[in-house]
Amino acid sequence: MLLEAMTMTEFQENLERSRTVVVPVGSVEEHGVHLPLGTDTIHAFEVCRAAAERTGAVVAPPIYYGICRSTSQHPGTLSISGDTLRALIRDIGLSLYQQGLRNLIFLSGHAGGTHTAALVEAGEQLLERLPEVQVAALNILDLGARGWEPLIETKGDSHAGELETSVIMALRPSWVKGTSPEEYPHFPKAILVRNKRSFWPGGVWGDPGKASPEKGAACLEAVTAALVDLIYRLEAWKE
Ligand SMILES: [Zn+2]
Repeated sequence: MLLEAMTMTEFQENLERSRTVVVPVGSVEEHGVHLPLGTDTIHAFEVCRAAAERTGAVVAPPIYYGICRSTSQHPGTLSISGDTLRALIRDIGLSLYQQGLRNLIFLSGHAGGTHTAALVEAGEQLLERLPEVQVAALNILDLGARGWEPLIETKGDSHAGELETSVIMALRPSWVKGTSPEEYPHFPKAILVRNKRSFWPGGVWGDPGKASPEKGAACLEAVTAALVDLIYRLEAWKE
């Protein structure tokens, strides 16, 4: 069930059925010239919604903002700091706990390393602070979904390429505006660069030209199944 659509009474009744909540986390980030800025949030939200329908878990309203480094200079990207993201995750996690939820899953559609690390760090802080909580904090790629690798033909596909384009074609077909050229940026190892856009002009990592709604639907099903599995594992977790 969607938390934002529930009444106070429905929320209370649902706690008898499930103490699990999934919080979709995304980003507002360029995804080439063909995908919407909200691609990562849409992806995470729809996967959480589908998994919640199968398990009875609650879906919290998504966190639309995340940490974007390498795309920060492209038009439309809005990034927040690690401090803000960690504080958001901690505060929302604490409030969900105070409302009776015990299994908290923060699932991000944005897979940036700094962003994912902030989720994990905030998750650890919740674990330290709250005695009965179980926490999972991860991005969609780290879910370990099986069966989608053979579907994606592009090697090294990672951003606004074959996978994400396929997913948005399946979820929001009218939001896909054509395609973008295939691109594989090369950032220097170890050195942080000022002019990020000069290393990644198109904002695509992979080949969106190979995308299809059928591939998107199959990938979404694989990811949803992996999230359902994680929900059940977290609910049964004992240590
Ligand atoms: Zn993305």
